[in-house]
Amino acid sequence: MNQTLSSNNFQVAIIGGGLAGLCLSIQLAEQGYSVVLIEKEKYPFHKVCGEYIAMESWNFLEQLGVPLSQMNLPRINKLHVSACNGNLLKHNLNPGGFGISRFTLDHKLAQIATQKGVALLDETKVNAVLPEYTSFLLKTSKGEIRAGLVCGAHGKRSNIDVKLKRKFIQNPDPNNYIAIKYHVKADLSENLIALHNFENGYCGISKVDSGRFCLCYLTTVENLQKHSGYIKHMEKAILMKNPHLADCFTQSEFLYEQPLAISQLNFSSKASVENHIFMLGDAAGLITPLCGNGMSMAMHASKLLACILPELIESKISLQLAEERYLKLWNQQFSTRLKVGRTFQYLFGHPTVTNLTIALLKHTPGLMGKLVNLTHGENF
Ligand SMILES: Cc1cc2nc3c(=O)[nH]c(=O)nc-3n(C[C@H](O)[C@H](O)[C@H](O)COP(=O)(O)OP(=O)(O)OC[C@H]3O[C@@H](n4cnc5c(N)ncnc54)[C@H](O)[C@@H]3O)c2cc1C
Repeated sequence: MNQTLSSNNFQVAIIGGGLAGLCLSIQLAEQGYSVVLIEKEKYPFHKVCGEYIAMESWNFLEQLGVPLSQMNLPRINKLHVSACNGNLLKHNLNPGGFGISRFTLDHKLAQIATQKGVALLDETKVNAVLPEYTSFLLKTSKGEIRAGLVCGAHGKRSNIDVKLKRKFIQNPDPNNYIAIKYHVKADLSENLIALHNFENGYCGISKVDSGRFCLCYLTTVENLQKHSGYIKHMEKAILMKNPHLADCFTQSEFLYEQPLAISQLNFSSKASVENHIFMLGDAAGLITPLCGNGMSMAMHASKLLACILPELIESKISLQLAEERYLKLWNQQFSTRLKVGRTFQYLFGHPTVTNLTIALLKHTPGLMGKLVNLTHGENF
């Protein structure tokens, strides 16, 4: 995947080749701009993610060239939510979503980006972004790159955030969250996403491609520390108190030797433009996984930028106006969802509150439907 650069000057440089960065790079390259996408990992690679994508992104991904309809992907239209005590709420999802592993999806998008002419540099880390008079100098692990514009699609937390001294790095979330992911073989319904709560956390399970299920959970560092850092011990003592999770953990075949894990997740708000760098995806705001829709937000934000940046490159609008437009559109599209996500996060994970919330929602399907709708967006 790694390309040798014939020039190190680009109209746009994108830091991070997850969904946000890949989708933006493809759209800009399609419009004829020179784009470099810099990703520190080597494609293809696994990521911690629940891997459920809301239907709002289906058409967009197909338009970018991902042949979703031909990939025989599980379509998910049922939601089960269990309280810590096992009390189960069942709800229909309409239109719901589909399952695809990040290994498969990001790899496919990286291939499309290369075909469209994006200079895709994987195994390359951006170490610093220095503003110059009319451009930026990016210092990477493999040399220097110059670009007229820089977009930050570097995900939840990166060395770039530290370098930029971003607010959320200076004021870390007092709830220090970790996330763990497995791929498993399981005897579960193909069209179901299950969300099982446990003390100080929740775990999602749904089917992806290749006959696998993605089992991914979020919890606090404190929960892990109580078990001396042993993930297996924590799962047995805390997660498996929920009978549905006990079934999942004891009856599934785990396909990795070790789970994938990430830490220091921070759900506080972030600025979507910082030091004239346009942020998108998790770099602009991380939604709580409970709302299951961060991937759609990342892709949608790439579409917003793919409309605004060409006007800036063509000098039809000033940098200030481009930044203002992006901030406005970003807030219109996503700030309510982020707030709802943070509120939901408080309702789940505390056993008594979660048990009561599920009991209430079981008897008010209309309210449940409204809550689900708040976490999903329109096609874009
Ligand atoms: C536990 C959990 C479960 C989730 N489940 C779901 C779900 O089921 N559905 C859903 O829609 N969303 C889910 N999300 C959210 C979703 O994973 C993210 O919103 C989505 O991945 C954001 O994409 P992104 O491109 O912004 O970031 P990422 O996909 O994280 O990509 C960022 C990339 O930047 C690279 N990078 C970072 N720093 C540098 C650097 N300095 N130089 C070069 N490269 C760099 C990283 O290697 C990475 O590949 C979940 C999140 C969590 C934490």
